[in-house]
Amino acid sequence: AKKVGRGQYRFFDQSLNLKDVEEFHLEQSFSEALRNREFVLHYQPQVCLDSMEIIGYEALVRWQHPEFGLLFPDRFIPVAENSGFVIPLGLEVLRLACAQIAQWQVEGISAQPVAVNVSPIQLTQAEFCRQVLEMISEYDLKTDQLELEITETAMLDANAVESLHCLKAAGVKLSLDDFGTGYSGFAHLDAVPVDKLKIDRSLIAKICNSHDDSPIVSSTIILAKRMQLKVVAEGVETRDQLVHLKVAGCDIAQGYHLSRPMPPADLPDFLRAFTGQ
Ligand code: C2E
Ligand code: CA
Ligand code: CA
Ligand code: CA
Repeated sequence: AKKVGRGQYRFFDQSLNLKDVEEFHLEQSFSEALRNREFVLHYQPQVCLDSMEIIGYEALVRWQHPEFGLLFPDRFIPVAENSGFVIPLGLEVLRLACAQIAQWQVEGISAQPVAVNVSPIQLTQAEFCRQVLEMISEYDLKTDQLELEITETAMLDANAVESLHCLKAAGVKLSLDDFGTGYSGFAHLDAVPVDKLKIDRSLIAKICNSHDDSPIVSSTIILAKRMQLKVVAEGVETRDQLVHLKVAGCDIAQGYHLSRPMPPADLPDFLRAFTGQ
């Protein structure tokens, strides 16, 4: 316990302590998890608002932990970023995504591009661009079958900006994720060569019905268009939001209203239901 003054003592919050213990435990088991292939990707469809066709997928990592069950990224990505493990984990995620794209292509299930989330820490690695391009050629893919989602543009150093230009020149599409939050906004947009903006779901959640005017979302769409960028709305949970976004000129939508992220085994059934209705 720590003395905080006038005879009062503040004890360590037990839940915080447990969290530290858990993080330590996770950190200890990262390498073994990699060896045992405990990381898996779930895929969430992205739908074109003009054609209502699926035009791609976002890959979202999960950890099938032998003790804790299926862990979501908010639980372990921050731990991985603090320990540096996010670098080998990021390469594993890229490898899993490339292998999946190749497999879907062979099986004739999907030929759509897959977007992978990249930690800003990974991006600052000088060899990042080369590693991505090697992975793409290892799986015999074209560069436009893989997209990368980046965030925290304010944090990007010269290495990261160079990586992005290298990837862009090779034909890899780049999206600016979480747009409209403190992590990414128009202030840094001219420094990074992105093709798409993903409007953060906190902004989409403010669209309550199709009559509701949400000036931030509609202005973002107009500005993005003027910069020749495609606009993706994430976290679309209702039909009203979808209609509003379409009217406002948004290109692509993603969210529970269309589909939850799913394990690849569920995709064939999902596609049958989605296109067959
Ligand atoms: P993000 O990139 O903003 O991903 C979108 C998150 O919103 C995902 O959570 C997704 O499952 C969730 N989502 C999608 N549609 C809806 C919706 O309609 N409503 C709501 N409430 N949520 C929705 P998830 O999978 O838990 O991922 C959380 C974050 O973890 C991601 O946020 C991303 O920043 C990070 N992340 C995920 N996979 C990776 C990865 O492979 N590498 C790295 N570095 N980060 C990752
Ligand atoms: Ca993302
Ligand atoms: Ca996002
Ligand atoms: Ca996010």
